[in-house]
Amino acid sequence: MVNLWEMLLDFLFPPHCPLCHAYVETRGAWCPKCLAEALQPHQLSLSVPMQAVLADAWAFGVYKDSLRDLIRHLKYQGKRSNQFYIETLLSAAGKMPQVQKLLFGIDFAVPVPLYPDKEKQRGFNQAELIFSGFLASQHIPLRRLLLRTRATRPMYELSGSEREKNLKNAFAVTGIEALTGKNILLIDDIFTTGATMTECARVLRSAGAGAVYAVVLASDHRI
Ligand SMILES: [Zn+2]
Repeated sequence: MVNLWEMLLDFLFPPHCPLCHAYVETRGAWCPKCLAEALQPHQLSLSVPMQAVLADAWAFGVYKDSLRDLIRHLKYQGKRSNQFYIETLLSAAGKMPQVQKLLFGIDFAVPVPLYPDKEKQRGFNQAELIFSGFLASQHIPLRRLLLRTRATRPMYELSGSEREKNLKNAFAVTGIEALTGKNILLIDDIFTTGATMTECARVLRSAGAGAVYAVVLASDHRI
């Protein structure tokens, strides 16, 4: 069936690449050159304390230019249409051998939680929004098994010791029996210091989880 709304939309706003704005065939598509620049799955280097709780950590894209703007506008301005571009990128990532290898043996994914007031204000959990289509296509269930039990300050405002204090007792698990021995994909939008994901992994492991693998949409940590 012809979707008149989509036809009208394509006529008024022809689909374009989010970076170079070249016209593309379908909404949400990137031109091949810009997709190749943004989509670069890379393993994140982990410190020894991080390695104690995280089996591995990967970012699928590079946190700069278009991808950085897509994430920021989605997260802070609620620009949900950016989701189409992100889904295209994640769908391409899902076909890459290194990503398939990482996902092998995962039982389910758990998003890094937001404090409930913050999620209500934002209207969504960005990790969940970003990865839900990707996880469904990979047949990986998404389970909200972590809670943020108190509001925390943004990590970029804080020094090393303040960061540790900021995250102390900030997360708790729900449904311990569901976690026991399971291999978990811990998901978030970006990886900066990794402190939040490490603390979430520590809480999951303490509750009996098997291996925890961190995956984010983007990071600027290149090895
Ligand atoms: Zn382009």
